[in-house]
Amino acid sequence: MHCPNCGIQTPETANYCTRCGEPLREGLTKPDPTEAIAPEPSVSQIENQLRYMLPMGTPPVPLFAGYLGLFSPTLIAAPFALIFGTIGLLQLRRRPEAFGHGRCWTGIIMGLIFTVLGIALLINAL
Ligand SMILES: [Zn+2]
Repeated sequence: MHCPNCGIQTPETANYCTRCGEPLREGLTKPDPTEAIAPEPSVSQIENQLRYMLPMGTPPVPLFAGYLGLFSPTLIAAPFALIFGTIGLLQLRRRPEAFGHGRCWTGIIMGLIFTVLGIALLINAL
């Protein structure tokens, strides 16, 4: 079978020309080319979206700092949150591609507040 549009030899079983996409049978419409190239979200786009929800691409120290920050109101975790948050930020400075700045700052800010509060409570108790 030859394509009526471009004239190339096409397989007998083909519904459309393999080169130009012309329908080779009665009743077939030309496929919409815009549909074929409809933009799909790329893998990196999906990964970036996941990183906001999941700790993907976050090194362990900022991750740990973030959780310690959340547990800072227990006062025991607060100094550790402060330490891990600071270490995490220093590590991230050398790894600009890594995520976790927010988690580090959570650790530092929460750690600072509840370390000061803990020391104040300790002084009052003495
Ligand atoms: Zn053709």
